[in-house]
Amino acid sequence: MAILTEPIGSIPRPVELVEGLKAFSAGDIGADELNVLFDRALKDTIKRFEATGSPVITDGEQTKPSFATYPINGLALAPGGVVIPFADGHTRQLPVLTAGPFHYGTYAVDYLNRAKTLTSLPVKQAVITASALSLLYPATGIDGYSNEAFIADLTDEHEKDIRYCLAAGAYNVQIDFTEARLSLKLDPSKGLLRSFIALNNQVLNRLDPSARQKVGVHSCPGGDHDSTHSADIAYSELLPLLFELNATNFYLEYAGEKDKLGVLEVIKDSLRPGQRVFLGVTDVLNPRVESAGEIRDLILEAAGYIPLSQLGTTDDCGFSPFADDLSTSRDIAFEKIRARVEGTRLAEKALEKTQIAI
Ligand SMILES: [Zn+2]
Repeated sequence: MAILTEPIGSIPRPVELVEGLKAFSAGDIGADELNVLFDRALKDTIKRFEATGSPVITDGEQTKPSFATYPINGLALAPGGVVIPFADGHTRQLPVLTAGPFHYGTYAVDYLNRAKTLTSLPVKQAVITASALSLLYPATGIDGYSNEAFIADLTDEHEKDIRYCLAAGAYNVQIDFTEARLSLKLDPSKGLLRSFIALNNQVLNRLDPSARQKVGVHSCPGGDHDSTHSADIAYSELLPLLFELNATNFYLEYAGEKDKLGVLEVIKDSLRPGQRVFLGVTDVLNPRVESAGEIRDLILEAAGYIPLSQLGTTDDCGFSPFADDLSTSRDIAFEKIRARVEGTRLAEKALEKTQIAI
């Protein structure tokens, strides 16, 4: 019996890369110089990821501008889009589309292919949801390009983003759906969340069941500069609807939750057959590194609610979803990943003993 364990995605970029990205934006260094920094960061990240013992790794999103904006990197967009407020008072703002037809500037498979040249371990790849990118369409509309036409282009592009990764040999694809919990804050009637789920299901329903086995969804209350955007929204409001997504794997923030037993009850009641939940066992917003024993105990507790065949472990979120976020050190991120892997193995051993005793 093995309990699956996977990372979410991002690892804090090295300081020299963050500085390099700033210098590139300012026009002080060129693309070639930036690429040297990308290469160095990627090689170091993958080497350190492998050393954690993690059976599945990512590229640490070292070359991604952010988990949400990589498809529009380099496209001609205007400022002034949707603002995401965080609990500590800082905000992130999306740009807006000014013309159609909409197409991705970058597909996630580019990151996957680059990482796969540097490791023989399975590599998972994160992509952004169609629902997050649907927020790019301006409230005032675009002359000659309706919202319906935009959504048709967007769903086609999102489908390609997933399919290209699967075709290139991704271990699996994780769709980052951080706006799910946020949407309940923006619209407590749940209408916005329902519309997001319907939009994302439009694409998931185009995949055949074998492809869907390799597709998952990540949900969290946001994690940027050690702050969240929707931790005050209860999971009981979100999870029953989230599991309506026609995906197999669900990567849920959990270590940072206060009422863990309440969360387990909701998962138990709403997880559908064939779905698997990966619980976050490391709190990415807290610099304290969890012990393997403490993680083992979290898993053993969860195993009382969720069948082992449907239970896995992950980190609560990426460690730096935005490239300029240095609030967590690389050392701490890798130590937490190592603790997750060890804690998961300890839980397996403890559960095997229990089975023998029976
Ligand atoms: Zn997250």
